[in-house]
Amino acid sequence: MLNRADTRQYPEVRPDLPARSRGVIALVEENCTVCMLCARECPDWCIYIDSHKETTPAPEGGRARAHNVLDRFAIDFSLCMYCGICIEVCPFDALFWTPEFEYADYDIRDLLHEKDKLAEWAQTIPIPPPHDPAAAPPKELAAAANPRPARQAVPAKTAPAAGSGHTAVRAIRPPGSLPRKPAQPEDGGPGAVEES
Ligand code: SF4
Ligand code: SF4
Repeated sequence: MLNRADTRQYPEVRPDLPARSRGVIALVEENCTVCMLCARECPDWCIYIDSHKETTPAPEGGRARAHNVLDRFAIDFSLCMYCGICIEVCPFDALFWTPEFEYADYDIRDLLHEKDKLAEWAQTIPIPPPHDPAAAPPKELAAAANPRPARQAVPAKTAPAAGSGHTAVRAIRPPGSLPRKPAQPEDGGPGAVEES
């Protein structure tokens, strides 16, 4: 009774949340390759993805390449349980947590956030902390500083001349393809004579 009340005067005073709070999930659309890993791993099945394939014309001397184009990416936050599995499994850094939490709505259907809304949340992704100056440099920088020497062309192997005593290629044959040895009388074959 004698202590001061610890009531936060929200919404007049916004809470000072940690940067890594799980408020909402943001999508960086450019990074998404439509691999579908997040949708498959989501335990609540609340990620909806639609896409189609497009073919990039072949450059000179190359070949045409097909790639996925994202049509729809939506997360239903009325089902989401904020486990973070989708963010952890995304191999292309397309999903991020942001500490934004002010998206309560009167209609539960409005908690289905389509990709435009998820892209808006991307503006609130916290800036990652700077690297530890005492840490080892990233291996990509070390590799760029010491480029590998160009590989020497390996001459093609030539088959040895006939009668040289070497076998060029060892063929692997499936079982049963080898010619059978004719049965010998001592093996109990058809030519064997039984002793009385
Ligand atoms: S946080 Fe969990 S429940 Fe929510 S969309 Fe991601 S995987 Fe699904
Ligand atoms: S796991 Fe990442 S890259 Fe794959 S579909 Fe989901 S958001 Fe896109």
